[in-house]
Amino acid sequence: MIYSKHYDVIVIGGGHAGTEAALAAARAGASTLLLTHNIETLGQMSCNPAIGGIGKSHLVREIDALGGAMALAADAAGIQFRVLNSRKGPAVRATRAQADRVLYRAAIRTMLENQPGLDIFQQAADDVIVEGEAIKGVVTQSGIRFLGRSVVLTTGTFLGGTIHIGLENHRGGRAGDPPSIRLADRLRELPLRVGRLKTGTPPRIDARSVDFSKMIEQPGDTPLPSMSFMYGIGDMPKHPRQISCFTTKTTAETHDIIRAGLDRSPMYTGKIEGVGPRYCPSIEDKVQRFADKDSHQIFIEPEGLTTHELYPNGISTSLPFDVQLALVHSMPGLENAHITRPGYAIEYDFFNPQDLKPTLETKVIAGLFFAGQINGTTGYEEAGAQGLLAGVNAALLSLDKAQITFGRSEAYLGVLVDDLITMGTVEPYRMFTSRAEYRLLLREDNADQRLTEIGRRLGLVSDERWAVFSEKQNAIAREHEWLRQTWVQPGTRLAEDMNGRFGFSIAREYSLHDLVKRPEVNLAALKQLWLAGEPAPEEMDGIAETTATLAIAGQVSEQVETGIKYAGYITRQSEEIEKLRRNEHLVLPSDFDYAGIDGLSSEIRQKLCNIRPASIGQAGRIPGVTPAAVSLLLVHLKKRR
Ligand code: FAD
Repeated sequence: MIYSKHYDVIVIGGGHAGTEAALAAARAGASTLLLTHNIETLGQMSCNPAIGGIGKSHLVREIDALGGAMALAADAAGIQFRVLNSRKGPAVRATRAQADRVLYRAAIRTMLENQPGLDIFQQAADDVIVEGEAIKGVVTQSGIRFLGRSVVLTTGTFLGGTIHIGLENHRGGRAGDPPSIRLADRLRELPLRVGRLKTGTPPRIDARSVDFSKMIEQPGDTPLPSMSFMYGIGDMPKHPRQISCFTTKTTAETHDIIRAGLDRSPMYTGKIEGVGPRYCPSIEDKVQRFADKDSHQIFIEPEGLTTHELYPNGISTSLPFDVQLALVHSMPGLENAHITRPGYAIEYDFFNPQDLKPTLETKVIAGLFFAGQINGTTGYEEAGAQGLLAGVNAALLSLDKAQITFGRSEAYLGVLVDDLITMGTVEPYRMFTSRAEYRLLLREDNADQRLTEIGRRLGLVSDERWAVFSEKQNAIAREHEWLRQTWVQPGTRLAEDMNGRFGFSIAREYSLHDLVKRPEVNLAALKQLWLAGEPAPEEMDGIAETTATLAIAGQVSEQVETGIKYAGYITRQSEEIEKLRRNEHLVLPSDFDYAGIDGLSSEIRQKLCNIRPASIGQAGRIPGVTPAAVSLLLVHLKKRR
């Protein structure tokens, strides 16, 4: 039967990409259907219950800045929060939330069910309806035909999924869920390049069988970090009760057990053909690749507040169950551990992302978009970011509006998509800060400054978020002004930190703005000390403190302080971007003599010789080709003219 309602956008899959895609499409004004295997697993975390971390939290904040769900759900479900790299510069600082799986799913489902313009339907999609070179809809397992102007496929690890534990294997989308076999077969008929990848997960452990006294406790950070720019405002989700994680380690015995089990490993006996994530290797891979290391740290992470299950982060494995049991028992504190679920590896189909446009629409089937693991990425955050982009573009296409793309200098989302569509991937792709050339501009703390206005234009940003953002912009401007106008007299003694530790006294008159440039001066401490007898910047122009201004006060100070302290670097990066933009389309002749350019590293020279980029813009996007190298190319290009 043909379903009576025709949709602008149909999203297949209710994982991290699919839920962001469906929300974004509906918010952008498209009538949207989210079609998924099981409504109970909307927002399910297939692997570790954590959101964020290095490189990934940047994506989460960008999703948030564009009105998406992931950061809000992480705040509602986060049971331990930490800021990683907190002693390093702001470009690489990253927030990580250990999440309660049940609370996370509930938060995502609540947002989906309350989204106007979005219908949800539970059933497998078995087929796509393609007429000529355009998508027309989807056919479900029981033959219901849903018609739509565009379709976003976000099927994760489910396409042709095969689960491996030791030398045993069976078909599955992830443990406990069916695979998508018919849809996979159908997609293989389309003119798109398909490949196989692999990922894995560790066994889970019952906390009641663990001796925590042999482990090191790892509490969360204080003050308690948050993921969303909206945290603490109005009815926005609040953090639940916080609990600790623990660490233990593998031993020489663990490594012996693993080596002895390799003859029954599906990876080492060639049963698995798909390539696994290099940066998130299985424990058997780690023991083989780093043979000189006699121990690896393992994080023991709670899966939630209402379960005893623990996630041992660092021992992802597809070894047979008896080997899993023995290796778990060889680690301090886990001698008597009961395994609740075995670890496993999964192989699945993915499609070469080089067959996608920067909007994430496939090049060959108009209106068909791909997002998430199906594009060769790994991780909830990478999936969510792509989902949001694909969802909003599917909506814009269906509504006959101009679509949106992001540049590498605008967002990690731009870096992610550009990497995927220009280079493709031969292994599960994950985000790192090192993938971004303009790290200092693309910080997790300024994602809203970069993207919220764009999100508002696209219809993704709610009135409430927009009001808070606008208030924050005003507060930042007021605080800069206040710092410029407030002078410190010679002899004043200033604190270096929030505890009022006295660091130094001032020899001549300075504005607070100039003082903040000093690396040792902490703006929060300065304000606390200074404002004891002075008016706060909020009060200067008569604006009363509201709940929102209090909630964003920390964010405001962070923006102001980073802006002042790193002004030189930020300006330099902005100039580089401007220069690249101006020269983006300058043609590089096909016979350009890269070998004759002094100052290029041999690695960069080789890449340029092999790829022979058509333009300066393309040269700058080749991974490893630095802005300095692009400048050299420009100089030599000018000499040739
Ligand atoms: P998923 O979250 O997998 O969601 C896919 C959704 O599509 C599901 O809801 C599914 O039911 C639905 N679906 C599929 N086919 C159909 C269909 N035909 N009809 C209707 N609905 C359908 N990430 C890491 O970063 N590090 C790791 O170490 C890691 N290990 C992993 C280990 C395992 C065993 C698995 C399964 C995943 C692992 N991941 C890991 C990956 C992480 O789970 C994914 O990157 C992320 O969930 C991808 O999101 P997604 O939305 O693309 O797909």
